[in-house]
Parts: sequence; structure tokens; C-alpha cells
Amino acid sequence: PRRLRIPGEDLAKCRTSLSDPDDFTDQDVVVVGAGDVAAEIALALAERNRVSLLVRRDKIDRPKQRNRDALHALAAKGKIKIHYNTSPKAVTEQEVAITCKGEESTLKNDVVFCALGSDLPLPLLRKLGIRMESDWTLGRMARLVGFLAVVLFYYLWKKEFLKGFVFPESWGFWTGDSLGLYGWTRTVSEWASGVLPAGPSLWAGAVYSALVLVFGLGCLRKYRGDPFQRKRYIVVIISQVLLLWIIPEIVFQGILALADGWRSYGLVIPAPLYVWNFKDPMSANLFWLVWFTVFSFIGVPLYSKFTGKMYCSWVCGCGCLAETFGDRWRHLAPRGRRARAWENFGQWTILGVVACFVALGLANAESTAWTWQELLVDFLLAGVIGVAAYPFWGNRIWCRFLCPLSRVMHAVAGNTSQRKISSGAHCIECGLCSKYCQMGIPVMEFAKNAQPFDNANSSCIQCGICVSVCPVRNLQHMEWDEDVWKDTVRNGPMVPLK
Ligand code: SF4
Ligand code: SF4
Ligand code: SF4
Repeated sequence: PRRLRIPGEDLAKCRTSLSDPDDFTDQDVVVVGAGDVAAEIALALAERNRVSLLVRRDKIDRPKQRNRDALHALAAKGKIKIHYNTSPKAVTEQEVAITCKGEESTLKNDVVFCALGSDLPLPLLRKLGIRMESDWTLGRMARLVGFLAVVLFYYLWKKEFLKGFVFPESWGFWTGDSLGLYGWTRTVSEWASGVLPAGPSLWAGAVYSALVLVFGLGCLRKYRGDPFQRKRYIVVIISQVLLLWIIPEIVFQGILALADGWRSYGLVIPAPLYVWNFKDPMSANLFWLVWFTVFSFIGVPLYSKFTGKMYCSWVCGCGCLAETFGDRWRHLAPRGRRARAWENFGQWTILGVVACFVALGLANAESTAWTWQELLVDFLLAGVIGVAAYPFWGNRIWCRFLCPLSRVMHAVAGNTSQRKISSGAHCIECGLCSKYCQMGIPVMEFAKNAQPFDNANSSCIQCGICVSVCPVRNLQHMEWDEDVWKDTVRNGPMVPLK
């Protein structure tokens, strides 16, 4: 159990658990903590003792709703005294010294319960040779460097930053204009009578799409018991392979050979994630400009209103890779209040940066702002860091902490989204929903209070994995329906537990 780390906590009257409430009558009890255990100890002892509950924050929001209601009801009757913003400073035989917003005082006391949760016995586990997944071992560091190198090479090649790089003559195959790093794409294009465009974009897209396809099929198998996930993964694969590769690369740039066929990415990816249709607008076909503007400024708010941030887990190219190739690392997402605060800060910052780059680029076509947008945002943050972070910090680092489109969708969906996930009253607090939420949302905190969640109270992207992994099917898409629960629970978990 976690300790108070204050003088006197080794006294016999300091305990970390309550076995039998009948052992305590007419005593001055201090309970330290703000979770369910602290609440339940306080509730169990309140009728026959004088209970003080010490809470470090200015509210109690972690226990289950029914425990919170019971606490507040007993506090209103004067049976429990809740001390907010208060920490214990020392324990003596008769008293507990406390501090509240800098003011010190004492409470008469017979017994103290410290209910601050517990820490893993890491030193012991390590001594036994058990390693944590997040330990920075040499092997893990080597994997980080290796994975980063592969991702870096992929994006350097895709962005044609390796043009002009000359391999030593002795490497034979790689040298020569028709076979070098980029030359072979021209050779293949000529061989295919121009139907396949020359250049790395087609082939980088092919690699990306192949990853989504192969790992997407794996996910279809993994979540095969869940009709929602089957539908979602089929849409994810089609979005990437058809909408984000075949149509922009082969149809518009290959078969139709449009000079500005690359603008067709804007058919599916709106601003401010894809801003390139704003570049050099005078030379663009009017259709691209009109579609892109309407999609970005009217389409995004509209679909966010009706579907929340579903776009992220069903359609977006970054999301397609995260949901398929990145699926195995979804449990590594950073969690906690601090991580959520960084989400807001990071997304607003990048949104501001992208807006500045676009404004500068529009004001002056020769401006280096477009180069910075490509280097800093597209290449470094969304590309290299976003993907290389998968095995170490989860599959949604770019999406959660940096994506400017996510911020826009959240701003709209936060107030208006009609999509939500509801929870029933059957939660067994196993924590699987929180563990597998790639957005680091504390799903169990909602679930144990039978509280629905959407973009008003979370950054949920409606991937539905929390629903799929719940062993008692306590979560449902949209409104909770007890009959649906009774009907589906007979089938057991949708995803076999590991
Ligand atoms: S957060 Fe941004 S990059 Fe990630 S899936 Fe959503 S729109 Fe795409
Ligand atoms: S809360 Fe559930 S549906 Fe929402 S992002 Fe997390 S796992 Fe997906
Ligand atoms: S997975 Fe289900 S039972 Fe487990 S904590 Fe989440 S909602 Fe509760």
C-alpha cells in the first residue's frame, strides 16, 4: 500500500485496510484518501464513530457515484466531516496534525486509515527477473533507434529528400539513373505505359496501404466476434486502399494524368490536416478549391456534429495506420490528467502554427512557410515522430497531442456530437476498457458510475474497442439498453481475454 510518508505513520493505530467495522465504536477516525476504498471505509464507520475524511483536492470525483452520493448524504447529516484541500502532516497517539491551504490544525484521533491505493513492488519484481513493458532496457532502446531509422528512411524517401544522394559505385544495383533510389519508379511507370505515375508517392502509398491491408485483415480476425469492429475495419481498409491510394495516385495522377492530381487527397482529408490545396490557389482547378473549402469549413463541422470524431477511427489515413498496424500498441497510450492537459496544449499550438504557415503562404507564394509546413508538421511531427512512437508511447501520439484537425473536430463535437458510448450498471472494474483505450481515456471511471461519454467529456474517437473488450458487455454504442445487454451478455466477451 502507498504510505503517507509523515511522522507517526508507523504507530499501531495507523492502518491501511478495514476488516470488520464492528471493531470500531465511538472512536475518532481519520480516513485519508479520495477513492472508493477511502469512501467505503468512511461510510462503514460513520454510523458508530466520528469520521473525518481528508481529501487533498477541492472535490471528490473518483469514487463510484453511489459512494459519492452516500458520502455527501452522511456529510449533510454531520456524520462524516469532509476536509477538502487537506493533507495530514503528522500522527501522534491522540491527534492527527493537518494542513489546509497553509493553515495548520489538529484533529482528535483514535485510529487512522490510509487509503491511498498501492504501488507495484517494482524492486521485488525486478529482483525476480520480471521486467515491465515500459522499462528502458538496452533492447528497447535499440528497437526505438531501429524503428525510428526505418520510419525516417521511409519519409525521407517519400518526400524525395534523398534525391541527389549517391550510393557508392560498388553497390551496383542502386546506382544508375534507371535503377537508383528514385529512377526505378520512372522505369516502372514507362513499362506500365504511364498508367502508374513516376515518383515515390505511389510506392510509399503502396507500402502504407499494404500495412493497413495486412494488419487490417489481422484485426478483422482478432475482433471477428464483434459486428461493429468488422464493419469498422472493412471501412478502414477501403478508406486507405481505395480513397487514399488508388483514387489519388492511380486514377488522378496515373490514368487521368492530371498535373494537379495530387490535390485529390483533399477529397478525403480536410484542412487543417491537409493544407496543400491552399497552396498556389490561382493555378488550381476550381473544382478542387471549391470542394476542399466546402469540405473543410462546412463538411467537418457537419460530420463532427453527427458523428463526433469517428472520422479518426474510420476514415483518416493516419487513423487507418494507427488502427491496424498500431493496434497492438494501443495499451501504451499515456494516461492521466497531465497527459490530457498536454493534448489541449499541443493541439492548439500546432493548429496555431499551421494557421500561421497557411496565412504566410497565401500572402506570399514565395514564402518559406510551405517548406516549414512540409518539414516540421507533415514530415517530422505527423510522419516520423507520429509513427515511430507507436511501439513506445502508443499508436496515437500525433493524433492525441498534435493533430490540428482533431482540435477543430473536438471543438465542434464537444458541444454537439450525437455519438456517445453508454455504460450500464454491471461494471466489475476490471480496467480493460481503460487499458485498451488508445486515447488514454479513463473509461472505467465513466463505466463504474454508469455515466455515458462523448466528446463533451472525453476525446473519444468512437473506435469501440472499449466496448469490444469489456468482459461483461457493460458498454454500448449510443443509448444504454438493458434488453440488448441481456441478449448479448449470453454470448460472453466479444474479444477473447488474454
Ligand atoms: S487525430 Fe487527426 S491525424 Fe489522427 S486520425 Fe484524427 S484527423 Fe487523422
Ligand atoms: S473510449 Fe472507447 S471508443 Fe472511445 S477512443 Fe477509447 S476505446 Fe475507443
Ligand atoms: S471493461 Fe467493462 S467491466 Fe471492465 S472496467 Fe470497463 S466497463 Fe467495467
